Amino acid sequence: LIRMDNVEKYYGSFHALKNVNLTVQRGEKIVLCGPSGSGKSTLIRCINHLEPIKSGRIVVDGTELSDGQKSIDIVRREVGMVFQQFNLFPHMTVLENCMLAPMRVRGVKREEAEATARRFLERVRIGNQADKYPAQLSGGQQQRVAIARALCMEPIAMLFDEPTSALDPEMVKEVLDTMVGLARDGMTMICVTHEMGFARQVADRVIFMADGEIIEENTPEAFFQAPRHERARAFLGEIL
Ligand code: ATP
Ligand code: MG
Repeated sequence: LIRMDNVEKYYGSFHALKNVNLTVQRGEKIVLCGPSGSGKSTLIRCINHLEPIKSGRIVVDGTELSDGQKSIDIVRREVGMVFQQFNLFPHMTVLENCMLAPMRVRGVKREEAEATARRFLERVRIGNQADKYPAQLSGGQQQRVAIARALCMEPIAMLFDEPTSALDPEMVKEVLDTMVGLARDGMTMICVTHEMGFARQVADRVIFMADGEIIEENTPEAFFQAPRHERARAFLGEIL
């Protein structure tokens, strides 16, 4: 469903992604981890074409990302993204936040967009907050709205970039539970997270990055019990 072949990414002269190869099958759940600055966000952002790449190929659901606006529009429409900062529109209610993109980008009618929004807000267990503004919600609730908003576009895959790291500890679980639910429903997911409990529970594969390179790809069991790479061992020693 998602494929990266020999992807190289630079910020100016800084080599941010080095020969990245990654294939994600439909329904697969990948957890991406690694030290700060290793290129995790960059990798995720390249998939969504929020960042241009220098060379290599990225293919999403059969569409190769080129610099053409058309392929960019397709990926942005088909792939959902959830960030550390929730990025909700503050001047819109929860419901309106969830209706906007389907109406603007997919041309869905208002009634249908509202029905879909309510359905996904229920699914993230926040249906009763639909008419509130983001600032009236807790961080965990806002992040669940952000997830519902992405789901309203009926994405073929979801990308998460540290969705729980800006949350107070007591709110982390409700967001992780939502993500586990999505995983159980068969969503294709790439999650940048240091929540290793989540990784154990849902990941098909754990990918470890350092200095812009993927240096280990492993099952969660093997990764946590016996990481092959010294840097992965050191990393796990720090976070567990
Ligand atoms: P963290 O765990 O801190 O979020 P990360 O693994 O997500 O780290 P990236 O944000 O992908 O790391 O950054 C990888 C490297 O690229 C870092 O060294 C960073 O300083 C650099 N970088 C990221 N974005 C830019 C940018 N817009 N311009 C220049 N350099 C950047
Ligand atoms: Mg990051």
